[in-house]
Amino acid sequence: MPHPKRRMSKTRTAKRRTHYKAVSATTTLCPQCSNAKLSHTACTSCGYYNGRQVITVDL
Ligand SMILES: [Zn+2]
Repeated sequence: MPHPKRRMSKTRTAKRRTHYKAVSATTTLCPQCSNAKLSHTACTSCGYYNGRQVITVDL
């Protein structure tokens, strides 16, 4: 199997990883209660997804 001949330095690894950054999660407005919610996820404030109640939320 091919193998790296030299250990990659911490600096070189860090320099490569400067292009990596965290992306914020996409949020949309809930059509039921118009709070911000994660897309493709049941709303955490009213429990609705795709026009129906799918989870019960403690109020
Ligand atoms: Zn909602």
